[in-house]
Amino acid sequence: MRGVPALRADVLVIGGGATGAGVAWDAALRGFDVVLVERGDLAEGTSGRFHGLLHSGGRYVVKDPVAAEECVVENAILRYVIPDCIEDTGGLFVSTPDDDLAYADRFLEGCRKTQLPAEEISVAEALRREPRLNPGIRRAFIVPDASIDAWKTVWSFARGAAGHGARILTYHRVTDLHRSGDSVTGARVRNELTGEDLEIEARFVLNASGAWAAQILHMAGIEDVGVVPGKGIMIAMNHRLVNTVINRCTMPADGDILVPVRTVSVIGTTDIHSADPDEIPVTQAEVDQMLDDGERLVPGFRDARALRVWAGVRPLFQDARADEVKDTRDVSRTHAVVDHRERDGVDGLLTMSGGKLTTLRLMAQDLVDAMCSQLGEQRPCRTREERPPGNEDGEAYRLGSRLRRRESTLQDEQLICECELIGRNRLEEAMRRRGTTNLDDIRRSLRLGMGPCQGGFCIYRATGILHSVDRLDGAEAAASLRGFLQERWKGVWPILYGDQLRQACLDDWIFQGLLDVGHLPGDAKVPDDDQRARGEQVAGGEAHADPAQVPEGGRQADAAAAEVNL
Ligand SMILES: Cc1cc2nc3c(=O)[nH]c(=O)nc-3n(C[C@H](O)[C@H](O)[C@H](O)COP(=O)(O)OP(=O)(O)OC[C@H]3O[C@@H](n4cnc5c(N)ncnc54)[C@H](O)[C@@H]3O)c2cc1C
Repeated sequence: MRGVPALRADVLVIGGGATGAGVAWDAALRGFDVVLVERGDLAEGTSGRFHGLLHSGGRYVVKDPVAAEECVVENAILRYVIPDCIEDTGGLFVSTPDDDLAYADRFLEGCRKTQLPAEEISVAEALRREPRLNPGIRRAFIVPDASIDAWKTVWSFARGAAGHGARILTYHRVTDLHRSGDSVTGARVRNELTGEDLEIEARFVLNASGAWAAQILHMAGIEDVGVVPGKGIMIAMNHRLVNTVINRCTMPADGDILVPVRTVSVIGTTDIHSADPDEIPVTQAEVDQMLDDGERLVPGFRDARALRVWAGVRPLFQDARADEVKDTRDVSRTHAVVDHRERDGVDGLLTMSGGKLTTLRLMAQDLVDAMCSQLGEQRPCRTREERPPGNEDGEAYRLGSRLRRRESTLQDEQLICECELIGRNRLEEAMRRRGTTNLDDIRRSLRLGMGPCQGGFCIYRATGILHSVDRLDGAEAAASLRGFLQERWKGVWPILYGDQLRQACLDDWIFQGLLDVGHLPGDAKVPDDDQRARGEQVAGGEAHADPAQVPEGGRQADAAAAEVNL
């Protein structure tokens, strides 16, 4: 370890998703000195790839009542502590012509038992509220579902933790866990931007790495951990086809929920066992199935424009020493604190597994409570009452608030992203604050390039601004642009039909035809005028006709600063 820089903390949190950020916030509020490490950007794992639903619990009332009860309570608490991250869309459970009507009675009974406030309304009333709904629905129930923004949520908790002294290290990957006898004492992490190693010594390590938990535990010599990655895909459709979360009133199945998320609606999802959480390709069959499922809820769904498809992996937990898992849908959606002292004879380490984004606060509380109990310390949890930054005024997010803000400065400021209404000042401010030149990091912060054109019009403008704000040279700016296009392309190619295909052709014309992204000025691979005059060829300078083949852009964030600017 000689020569490797070192940090010391009370608690090392591994993973910067919803769980890790919630844990860092909880532990920092209790007065612990916290370091959180995330191998990528915050919420780049499952939390930034989920469906967007703040569960009322209705989905689980029949099959998984414990999970339902947790959702009922946590839904209300999150509405209080992070209102700015939540849009109160409300939810409907509807019996489509394909659903068993008897289930609706079991659903109502389940709601009663789990104290979920559900109310039956007439089919006519449901159709009045949501005119695009399948007119063949036979029963409808209102529940307190909502739409929740994962990026805002995670950043808000991380920012809150940092405000209480936590150090949040993004792009820091755990490569080894340290053990001294029977105890875990810290970790070695690698700065993914600079390649430098860092040693972190901690009194306790909290493993919040979700579907990657088993990989972390293997580093401590712990095998046989029952994390069962369950893959699901989702498709964002161009419009808010509905303004309320629509659930099929049936046993949890594929493609049975449509969530209005800001200006789009998201259909999902599937649940397939996945061996490797980093290998989650989307197949054409899955896309077709999802579009067919959408038709059941909203006739004409297939004719709407699909914007983007993506997949995420659930960190489902079933102890590997229990029965073998056959179907990931049958694994409970509740969470489990894995006590490695009791289970594996290893001190100083706890793992959080299972759960949902909706229950992140409770999961964090349970994990930090368990740590306090092992440390023999009494430090009460405060996350039910305290609001993290951005939520202080208690105002819930409302669709249209961005437009209202924009309209007041319409004449004074350049509009960079028309789809998501992002003005130049906001973009420059985010670039400076985050200290990143990775356009995908900016996307997660502002939703830049997430609308119908998928970055077609805004991203070259943003690259130019990035260039002027950060004084990147041409090659760096070009790499950043290509990295973004590469990421967007991954989510677009499986749904290339109809209007989205037309849009992709237009984008291709802009980026390949007009801007020639494979040969941008300043690109190191492009011969300069003198070289051209001498007729010299430069290796690797050929155009990339297929955007999927464009090499990934480099990460050029300020590597010297280990701690992320929140
Ligand atoms: C398809 C799908 C749809 C879903 N929809 C919903 C929904 O609508 N509502 C809901 O409440 N829940 C939903 N969920 C569940 C929810 O998204 C997850 O339970 C939750 O996001 C998990 O958060 P997490 O922080 O535990 O995991 P993650 O967000 O995956 O965070 C773990 C982090 O650990 C990091 N990591 C991994 N290895 C290392 C390492 N070596 N070093 C450092 N960091 C590392 C990863 O990069 C990752 O960011 C859905 C899940 C899926 C898959």
